[in-house]
Amino acid sequence: MYIIMITPECAPVAKVGGLGDVVQGLSRELQVRGNDVEIILPKYDCMRYDQIWGLEKTYSDLWVPYHDQWFHCDVYFGFVDGLKCFFIDDHSDKNFFNRGLFYGNHDDPERFAFFCRAALEFMLKTNKHPEIIHCHDWQTGLVPVLLFETYKHYGMTHPRVCYTLHNLRHQGVTGEQILRQVGLNPAHYMNQDRLQDNFNPSAVNLMKGGIVYSNFVTTVSPKYADEIKYSDLGCGLQHTLYVHGLKFGGILNGVDYNVWNPEIDQHIACRYSIDSIEDKYKNKDALRHRLWLSDGFKPIVSVISRLDHQKGVELIRHTVFHSLANGCQVVLLGSSPDPDINNEFWGLKHFLNDNPDCHLEIGYNEELAHMIYAGADMIVIPSAFEPCGLTQMTAMKYGTVPIVRNTGGLASTVFDADHAWKPYHERNGYVFNDFNNEGLESALHRAIDMWYSHPQNFQELMANGMRCDYSWNYPGEHYLNIYNHIRE
Ligand code: ADP
Repeated sequence: MYIIMITPECAPVAKVGGLGDVVQGLSRELQVRGNDVEIILPKYDCMRYDQIWGLEKTYSDLWVPYHDQWFHCDVYFGFVDGLKCFFIDDHSDKNFFNRGLFYGNHDDPERFAFFCRAALEFMLKTNKHPEIIHCHDWQTGLVPVLLFETYKHYGMTHPRVCYTLHNLRHQGVTGEQILRQVGLNPAHYMNQDRLQDNFNPSAVNLMKGGIVYSNFVTTVSPKYADEIKYSDLGCGLQHTLYVHGLKFGGILNGVDYNVWNPEIDQHIACRYSIDSIEDKYKNKDALRHRLWLSDGFKPIVSVISRLDHQKGVELIRHTVFHSLANGCQVVLLGSSPDPDINNEFWGLKHFLNDNPDCHLEIGYNEELAHMIYAGADMIVIPSAFEPCGLTQMTAMKYGTVPIVRNTGGLASTVFDADHAWKPYHERNGYVFNDFNNEGLESALHRAIDMWYSHPQNFQELMANGMRCDYSWNYPGEHYLNIYNHIRE
């Protein structure tokens, strides 16, 4: 099958969070299964160009219609992790993709609306007729709208669209001028059945457009699919998802075990598997050495996270102090685009600077993330909500026991050592319900106690996690079933 992903992120070149990992991992799985996969991305100035192989201009002078003008672009081609990627390079004075960041500009809706139009224009001009276009999140919500309302009339009648919602918190709600900019008449689209926001009648909701116009809509875990349809985690799109419920479902993301796998990981001090689990402790020593932590008989509690309210920043802060007070070492790797949160964690870092049991790394560091997954004993993920969450699944592959809040994909993948409905050999971590300090402590205490008092049982939990198969194998098959279903 010929599949084109249109996406704002793809790891490792352009990754802000899990969306980048998902595009990379799913595309790889589809490719390994014999499908022809191509990826279209913006050519951001801040990409990891060192991770693109053979980058070269493949299409010159792509003129993209935009707001009564034609914007000039070139398209580059290169391989990312063996995947065929096309990068749209915009030369207009708007400089849409040369901003030194992926997201965070006041005109983000405009930047990505342009990207949608440019991606389709590129496909039209180069006669690309994939069976499936798979697009992701609000940034590409206009792709199915433009395909079925505009590009279909230019002969692009073949592709069917699968649209994946990675996080309903960000929907691309913006003014109606965005429609005119991509050549759509607002009078036709500003109604409740189409792109009008469900709460603000004068605003366009790009994610809603993607849901309404796609042939199939997925989100990244079955539990989150229910949560966004039936609770306020739908952030106003509950009704839209309900109306389109017959073409909507949740598929748990996978983890790319070619990248995240202690048996082959290039970034860690000592490779290991479930059969050589004791070698994990060499990675614990290496992590301590790298971060100047003291040696000693203590568990390392870790956090690897975007520092944002969704991820429970207050509970992350509490994790640091509570773990230190209860005989643990703490390693945190995190960053935030919000300067207030970043400053708070920089303050915390300075405050704890001389503590030999604690290291806070404020920033984004892929290599250190590998070392932490391999070297830590536990990882804490106290999210307010979590569509899927890759961190807990990745941690389990490395035998690092997750301590998570009972929400979304965390609830679908982590089964409590003491309270789960699963048999003991399928329990793999600790889960808490209440989004407050007491809730967190209720799980953290049990984990620390198990580590100190029943090391044998703790190792069993580690092994249970390592045995779980959260690869792309099942989700890959699931997506292919959906693609086949919408092609019929
Ligand atoms: P989200 O997409 O909401 O950020 P996920 O759990 O789905 O959360 O994915 C997060 C991904 O980003 C994981 O691969 C995690 O290892 C990685 N990650 C998060 N913060 C950092 C960081 N500061 N440095 C390196 N990797 C990070």
